[in-house]
Amino acid sequence: MTGPAVITGGAGFLGSHLADHLVARGESVVCVDDFSTGNRENIVHLIGHPGFLLVEADVSMELPVDGPVGSVFHLASPASPPDYLARPLQTMAVGSEGTRRALELADRHGARFLLASTSEVYGDPTVHPQVESYWGNVHPVGPRSVYDEAKRFAEALTMAYRRTRGVDACIVRIFNTYGPRLRPDDGRVVSNFLVEALRGEPLTVYGDGTQTRSLCYVDDEVRGLLALADSDEVGPVNIGNPDEHTVADLARIVIELTGSGSEIVHLPLPVDDPTRRCPDITLARRVLGWAPEVALRDGLARTAEYLAARISSGRRGSGSAG
Ligand code: NAD
Ligand code: UDP
Repeated sequence: MTGPAVITGGAGFLGSHLADHLVARGESVVCVDDFSTGNRENIVHLIGHPGFLLVEADVSMELPVDGPVGSVFHLASPASPPDYLARPLQTMAVGSEGTRRALELADRHGARFLLASTSEVYGDPTVHPQVESYWGNVHPVGPRSVYDEAKRFAEALTMAYRRTRGVDACIVRIFNTYGPRLRPDDGRVVSNFLVEALRGEPLTVYGDGTQTRSLCYVDDEVRGLLALADSDEVGPVNIGNPDEHTVADLARIVIELTGSGSEIVHLPLPVDDPTRRCPDITLARRVLGWAPEVALRDGLARTAEYLAARISSGRRGSGSAG
């Protein structure tokens, strides 16, 4: 690497963990974030570190990074369904114009580029588990399309820059990832269930709870992102944990793990909520030698500890905290 790693969305849940891992291995990091869904507290421990610089900017509008750049990790985007459904135009802007700016930055510096794509590009999949060669089943005008199609466009743009400009770009398709630094009000299933259980409130299962997700602990996910960035692979590569559970099962596991007296209630299923999701990680195992290591109950226990501390200190950790 001839310059720092630029992380767009570096103050978010995943981006801040990625920053920690890069700084820990001696790399310099420039974190670019507009704090729309991220949180200054995620990176406060890095501020003042000689290898860390924070740039507050909306990358859909500008990407003001001076000096050399060794790599670009493009993570900026709302990721939780309530977050992107509340910000439809911003989500499409950061997937399109934000991705173009990040690719231009990598191109100018001859830097390695990693796009944080998502299992949502498979939509409500008809192939199970999802293998990278599957083209997906996305509702192109449904409410979730602002996220799904923005990410599909971002993948297409990444490949166009690779083919026409020779940018050293790769694509990771991230499957549901959880861990410390998820905001208590993030809205995704793990933080919702844990916060509800810790507060003794009913766990809100959407629909009948038979839909499945496969949850990856954040340290495993970041290790996968770095393995891909450090390699010559292009991808797309799935990085996720194939340990598949129904949402109803997850609710029961959370209640058991936290020793909560909470009940389970059912709320309406969001429109176009995927019925099954599980990564096929054959490719990641073969080309990156990567596999997840943290078991669901261990990861949930670590996340519960983090969220319990946040709840008791009364900090919500919402995007406005920036
Ligand atoms: P997050 O909301 O915690 O982090 C996103 C970060 O991007 C936030 O800090 C936010 O403030 C920032 N951001 C958003 N729009 C921006 C803009 N226009 N300019 C600058 N900063 C902006 O979400 P996360 O879970 O950490 O997700 C990070 C990335 O990984 C996203 O691209 C997401 O699509 C992808 N991803 C995450 C998951 C997951 O399960 N966590 C799954 C699939 C894909
Ligand atoms: N979900 C739920 N209760 C919640 C939050 C989410 O039952 O409080 C369900 C949601 O309908 C989906 C799954 O959990 O089937 C995962 O939702 P999440 O928002 O975490 O991520 P998604 O995979 O849908 O992007």
